[in-house]
Amino acid sequence: MVADERGAFAQAVYLYDTEPGGSGVCQLLVAQDKHGRHTNFAEAVRVMGQKVDLCNCEVACPKCLMQYGCTAKNSLRTLSRQQVTSLLTGALTLIESSGPDMQ
Ligand SMILES: [Zn+2]
Repeated sequence: MVADERGAFAQAVYLYDTEPGGSGVCQLLVAQDKHGRHTNFAEAVRVMGQKVDLCNCEVACPKCLMQYGCTAKNSLRTLSRQQVTSLLTGALTLIESSGPDMQ
């Protein structure tokens, strides 16, 4: 959640690239097609949702949510495959139901 200039809260997604100078992945994700839609971002959300939803683990594992080498965020107490699936499903529904500004 982020606050806009009027103090109203809205949901937001921040994309960042940790490569010095950028690898170009974020630019690909926010690129718009000729109709102004963010189809790469929608496809990325769709693929992430399928990967997380179809995993056979109970809560989280290196195949779905855990990041190799991350020592701070790979806790089963804070990761939830079900919650991420729900979040991505809601995001995809929002993206697909919105106009070119969101897609
Ligand atoms: Zn898993």
